[in-house]
Amino acid sequence: MRKNVIAGNWKMNKVLSEANQFVEDVAKKAPESDRVETIVCAPFPFLPSLVEKAKGSSVKISAQNMHFENNGAFTGEVSPVMLNDLGVTHVVLGHSERREYFAETNETVNKKTHAAFNHDLVPIICVGETLEQREANETMNHVENQVTEALKGLTNEQVTQTIIAYEPIWAIGTGKTATSEEANEVCTHIRNVVKGITSDEIAEKVVIQYGGSVKPANVDELLAQSDIDGALVGGASLEADSFLQLVEAGTK
Ligand code: 13P
Repeated sequence: MRKNVIAGNWKMNKVLSEANQFVEDVAKKAPESDRVETIVCAPFPFLPSLVEKAKGSSVKISAQNMHFENNGAFTGEVSPVMLNDLGVTHVVLGHSERREYFAETNETVNKKTHAAFNHDLVPIICVGETLEQREANETMNHVENQVTEALKGLTNEQVTQTIIAYEPIWAIGTGKTATSEEANEVCTHIRNVVKGITSDEIAEKVVIQYGGSVKPANVDELLAQSDIDGALVGGASLEADSFLQLVEAGTK
């Protein structure tokens, strides 16, 4: 049975003292359960401190982006070597905000995915359609293309470890959640795409999260769906209490 992975994506929020307090609280209270994995995706400057705070607990620390090169003349960038050296275990790649505001493409997401695996980082690859694409019935094709491009050239073993987050852009930060059936329909399609690239057995192991206005009030219904294995959460991950409620929901 697949685990639920509950990941809080803070985006560009908090200062160091708030970040430390959050991870201290969550590390203390996060349930020790084989059913759930708890991840905090934090801004770069907090990562070393948060890795320390999370030590000995079930909480893992993730970056929100990285460059695909190991080092070099890329002012302002952070490399997979640096993240791995800090003890970071996961990295969010291809978030729609990075695709929209920072010129992230399917090609760079694929390069970053390979770079993540080369440095023992688990990629959380984000895919999802705009409202216009949904209304034009392009959701399935668009998401299929994003997934196929992101996974290009990976070994089956690497695909097994990859986390895919389906985040419809129109549901991010808007309070509009896709209905759990709508979300599941796309997650099932993603699993079928992975099946086509690898095998039934591998696709059944891949964790597929839903993201977009997930909160304690709707998380149970989303996690009850056949192909949704957790959540990538923005707004509701900023307070330890609501984040812990989501993690708790993941243990069921
Ligand atoms: P919200 O939960 O705030 O809608 O954000 C979702 C998201 O973008 C997580 O990566």
